[in-house]
Amino acid sequence: MTTAFVPKESRPGETRVAASPDTAKRLAQAKVQLRVESGAGLAAGFSDEVYAAAGAQICGPDGWSSELVLKVQPPTVAEAGRLAKGAILISFLQPHRELEVVGRLRSGGVTALAMELVPRISRAQAMDALSSQATVAGYKAVLLGAVHLRKLCPLLMTAAGTVQPAKVVVFGAGVAGLMAIATARRLGCKVEATDVRMVAKEQVESLGATFITVPGAADMEGAGGYAKEQSPEFLQRQREEVAKRVAEADLVITTAQIPGKKAPRLVDRAMVKSMKPGAVIVDLAVESGGNCELSEEGRVVEREGVTIVGLANLPASVPQHASELYAKNVLALVKLLLDKEGHLAPDWQDEVLAGSRVTHAGEVSHAPTAQALGALVGKSA
Ligand code: NAD
Repeated sequence: MTTAFVPKESRPGETRVAASPDTAKRLAQAKVQLRVESGAGLAAGFSDEVYAAAGAQICGPDGWSSELVLKVQPPTVAEAGRLAKGAILISFLQPHRELEVVGRLRSGGVTALAMELVPRISRAQAMDALSSQATVAGYKAVLLGAVHLRKLCPLLMTAAGTVQPAKVVVFGAGVAGLMAIATARRLGCKVEATDVRMVAKEQVESLGATFITVPGAADMEGAGGYAKEQSPEFLQRQREEVAKRVAEADLVITTAQIPGKKAPRLVDRAMVKSMKPGAVIVDLAVESGGNCELSEEGRVVEREGVTIVGLANLPASVPQHASELYAKNVLALVKLLLDKEGHLAPDWQDEVLAGSRVTHAGEVSHAPTAQALGALVGKSA
């Protein structure tokens, strides 16, 4: 039987866990012997007893010697050193930021699969953790915004007078942005949204929001349905197009990202200054540099009379559902590694496994990471 270990997450602020009681049961059905570190699910609402009832074994840190290790956050360097030679690690890896960890995984002969690198092809939709976690973040962004507003969100007609609906502007209508639009609409807000991918227009409109078209956006879609990096001229045109809407908005939610690049600067100081006192900005791109010039990672700040929410890792603030969804993504990837008897039999030529693999058999197989690591080693030599 293949052994799999789910450790307690050790990075500050991480409350999620890589297996839920439901996936523990499904892993047992797939003939995987799951070991869960005592207390690993507590912050997400899953007790040791519930995991044990689902067929998992509760263990201590000795579980690190398992064949498979399932995590949410990248391991620390010390954790990477505990993995056995030939073991397979599945987690978010952020290889560009975690070069030391990648180096340790490589030298330890660990195969590391990065959840964020799973190709976004139809066959791998069930493994798409970027989407499942962005859905949670988009939802929570609106709730955070609503909590910080001095206003109500819906149109209310009461004996004491009429309350106008809150005006919301959403930048970026990808997975998180569309969820933010849907959530704001459910709260009764009037929503406008913009994206550089014109295909997003129909999706935005189908949610009952208005699409703000920026001239020249038609050729901004790049490979894999993602946005291309935009020129300073385009970003200036976009700022001019949305400036009036931002000035009138009660809540601005920014979700715009370009894979592998710094997030585009969409809301500058002048735009913040133009907003109404008490308006709120929630910057979901804060971890990749921020869409708003004045947002600060991990903090809620007041600048120019506007509250700017730059909290990081929003999925961890909804740990139960975020974990349940993430655990399902991980389960789908684990199943791809197993044969019918539950033995590890990965086909490394498989597009999904080849695409998500960062280290394998003492090599760094993800080209951009290998390059970054080479440059780092060169510098320290
Ligand atoms: P993302 O997190 O990389 O970016 C969020 C959004 O920001 C994107 O919609 C992007 O176009 C937008 N953006 C970038 N620069 C902008 C700017 N200057 N102004 C406004 N918006 C800007 O993207 P994501 O949410 O992970 O997904 C983006 C794409 O991937 C979508 O087309 C989505 O449908 C597609 N996708 C496909 C699959 C699949 O096929 N399995 C799964 C998920 C997402």
